[in-house]
Amino acid sequence: MIHPSGSSQDSDDLAKWLPWVIGIPFGIGIGVLTHNVLVGIVAGLGGAGVVSMLTEEYLRRRARRRQEHLQKSTQIRKPATQTRKQILFKDVGSTASRLSLGTDLAGILDAFTGEPLNPALGLYRCQCQVFYSASSFDFLREENGGRCVSCKQTSIVPFARTDFGMTGVSCPPEIVTLSNYPGYAGRVVTFEGYVRRISASRTGRAYAIMFEDKTWTRGLKAVVFTRHVVDVGGTHFINGLSGKTIRVRGLLQRHDIYGYQIVVTRRSMILEVR
Ligand SMILES: [Zn+2]
Repeated sequence: MIHPSGSSQDSDDLAKWLPWVIGIPFGIGIGVLTHNVLVGIVAGLGGAGVVSMLTEEYLRRRARRRQEHLQKSTQIRKPATQTRKQILFKDVGSTASRLSLGTDLAGILDAFTGEPLNPALGLYRCQCQVFYSASSFDFLREENGGRCVSCKQTSIVPFARTDFGMTGVSCPPEIVTLSNYPGYAGRVVTFEGYVRRISASRTGRAYAIMFEDKTWTRGLKAVVFTRHVVDVGGTHFINGLSGKTIRVRGLLQRHDIYGYQIVVTRRSMILEVR
């Protein structure tokens, strides 16, 4: 028999006729030798059955071996596919991080803290082109009515990676003195002055770094809220500023009760101590 798909069909045909070709003549041969043709025919049919069983068993085993071989081939191929995927994933990751640190944002600092931007933690951008980290934006919502510390507008929106190509600027803080600071409320400022004393709040957990020899509510001071004490350097560091001249960066607020205060949230916002 000729079959275009190959040896499998040939094997099936073999299983059909091989038992009869071998078994019947063999049985008849035995019958002739014993001079009993009837017994020979019966023996021939039996022989054909035995050969048929043996042939089918042979084909089953061959099919099983072929199946096992196919499974092994598949198992060898799988790890190769996974390796390719891992390399591809790494490539995509490194490309993405290059994009998020694109040259358009290189060197641009958080407009509130003055720290380098970390795109992985989320970015916000104001219409005036300054940028904020997510934590700075949260702070401005809580403490500055969501207003930008550069243009004082509420035009800060999340910055998406697809927005790259937009320009950005750092926000140079206004340098203020004891004679002009009231005009800069709501802005980010730097101020340099002698620390006359450190005052703790009644709870003992918030601190005022006093720059004037006046009461807490009347004089200019830098304040560290309770939730930022650790980030600014801890109680020991803050108390140690007394009697030093420091330069600070922060949001200048005019608080209804506590008066003018420069809010500092990070150690990096204490720019200089001497
Ligand atoms: Zn702005």
